[in-house]
Amino acid sequence: MFDLAQIRNDFPILSREVHGQPLVYFDNAATSQKPTAVIKSISDYYDSYNSNVHRGVHTLSGEATDAYEGARGQIGRWFGITDPGEVILLRGATEALNLVANTIAGELKHGDVILVGETEHHANIVPWQQLESRLGVRVVPIPVDRTGMLDLESAKMLCAKHPVAVIAIGHVSNAIGALNDVEGFIALANENKAFSVIDGAQAAPHMLVNVKNLQADFYAMSAHKCCGPTGIGALFARRELLERLPPWQGGGDMIDRVSFSGTTYNELPWKFEAGTPNIADTIGFSAALQYLESIDFVAATAHESQVHKYLVDSMLSRNTVDVLGNPEQWVSVCSFNVKGSHPTDVGTLLDQLGIAVRTGHHCAMPTMEYFGLPGTVRASIAFYNSVEEVDLFLDALDRVTRMLAH
Ligand code: PLP
Repeated sequence: MFDLAQIRNDFPILSREVHGQPLVYFDNAATSQKPTAVIKSISDYYDSYNSNVHRGVHTLSGEATDAYEGARGQIGRWFGITDPGEVILLRGATEALNLVANTIAGELKHGDVILVGETEHHANIVPWQQLESRLGVRVVPIPVDRTGMLDLESAKMLCAKHPVAVIAIGHVSNAIGALNDVEGFIALANENKAFSVIDGAQAAPHMLVNVKNLQADFYAMSAHKCCGPTGIGALFARRELLERLPPWQGGGDMIDRVSFSGTTYNELPWKFEAGTPNIADTIGFSAALQYLESIDFVAATAHESQVHKYLVDSMLSRNTVDVLGNPEQWVSVCSFNVKGSHPTDVGTLLDQLGIAVRTGHHCAMPTMEYFGLPGTVRASIAFYNSVEEVDLFLDALDRVTRMLAH
């Protein structure tokens, strides 16, 4: 049974006030809040067994290594991966996508086309653009439709016209919340012998993702949007692919032997993890997934979908706001503008009433350009939010709308 009151107790921050009002935290797409179990797992590490991992002969190093590598195994299993060599731990989705672009660069040739969703976060656009001048490849956007979905049929036409070598799309768009047809795009990439690269940063917090079943070449995500700490995330990729690709960064841990006559590299996954890893936050990341498991994540996401639907339906029925997109499958986000008002003004006034939302371009400037907007106000729901909070938000929004009209 999903017990919302009990779940909210697990998140100390949810009971604080902002400007004398109970906090309504609707900025989950930027980062989620953290339950006590995650906070404690990190302080336990520093309190009891803080030490560097790998190669240590002393007890603390052994304990830290076991916890770090145990966390990797658990993180992989959550995403349907049993081979820890296919789980690269790094700073988050941004670093994961940069790693992919930089390591597959050697497999691309002059004139190749990289298809990138028009609604991507900048983290899934800029690393590809950086290859353009270096390699003579071309980044071509996959058009979005008015509902906010990436158009698979247009992508098929682009594949028929161009030598497409990479298809890089978001599983869920962060500015709109559209759940894209990832299976369709991955199949299209396979048919064209192109790499499929999926940015799962906004999907992983809201649904169980089995990366093995998806059969994408690369899947990137960040822990901090899934109740885990900031500065840690994962890249999942097939072993044979990772074995073929060169390491990205050089340093400790990623080597087998170093000599001025030639250096050899470590096995997977460490070949892609140069330097001291983020041990504490990897442990916290794993604790976050264990927490999600403990609360019945499927039930939690079902509750979240109901709250999100209530929010979206209420917003669509208001003639004072314009909602961005209207995708068939819509996850967590409601991006909107109050008619005649700037998003920053709306967000700032909502904050005065205790409501935390994000305003601006949401690191998705091409999305804003397509819809002809400078930015939006983005409310985004997590499983610990409630219908009552949506009501508080709607009341606050109506007050703000009236204030701005005068
Ligand atoms: N991709 C998407 C869709 C995102 O929403 C974000 C963060 O907002 C990122 C990538 C970047 O994530 P991070 O900053 O954790 O690397």
